[in-house]
Amino acid sequence: MIKVADKHFEEYLTADQIQSCVRQLAQQLDKDFADKNLLILGILNGSFMFVADLVKYMTIDPEISFLKFASYEGTSSKGEVKDLIGINEDLTDKHILIVEDIVDSGTTLGHILELLKNKKTASISTATLFFKPEAYKQNIELQYVGKEIPNVFVVGYGMDYQGKGRNLTGLYQLKP
Ligand code: 5GP
Ligand code: MG
Ligand code: MG
Repeated sequence: MIKVADKHFEEYLTADQIQSCVRQLAQQLDKDFADKNLLILGILNGSFMFVADLVKYMTIDPEISFLKFASYEGTSSKGEVKDLIGINEDLTDKHILIVEDIVDSGTTLGHILELLKNKKTASISTATLFFKPEAYKQNIELQYVGKEIPNVFVVGYGMDYQGKGRNLTGLYQLKP
């Protein structure tokens, strides 16, 4: 058990288990994007560690950039998303891979795909290390999923609780 800010968490995946998920995804991406003009767009802050490890395991040579959003829960149940760092790269004819740490409701992902909709990309696909199928509210297909997890709040491997815990190399679940 560990404490992050004021809450207790239990180990859910070890660092080794996460690394083996990341390696498998890297191998799949190597195959699927061999000889393709790949641009990885990591979503900050949570994906920084995943993107860093993923590209080290990959043998192809992608461009790498990041986007940053803030999401707000309004009075309605529908979350709103605001861009903080937008797209500066030329996306024309590139194969875009959006990389998320975790997909929960999918609101963020829906917003990103909306932003990319009218760009002349060669293709757009999505990779997420973790996915909570029970929380997902979108119809968007996720092409690369590292691991499905239960609908429980997690920290570590880039993901925070109150700004803390991003540096943890394993994944930890909030204790009920
Ligand atoms: P969404 O609900 O839009 O799919 O999730 C948006 C973002 O919320 C994710 O990219 C991630 O950064 C954060 N998030 C979702 N679930 C969790 C979780 O269990 N723990 C942490 N720390 N962040 C999460
Ligand atoms: Mg995220
Ligand atoms: Mg957060």
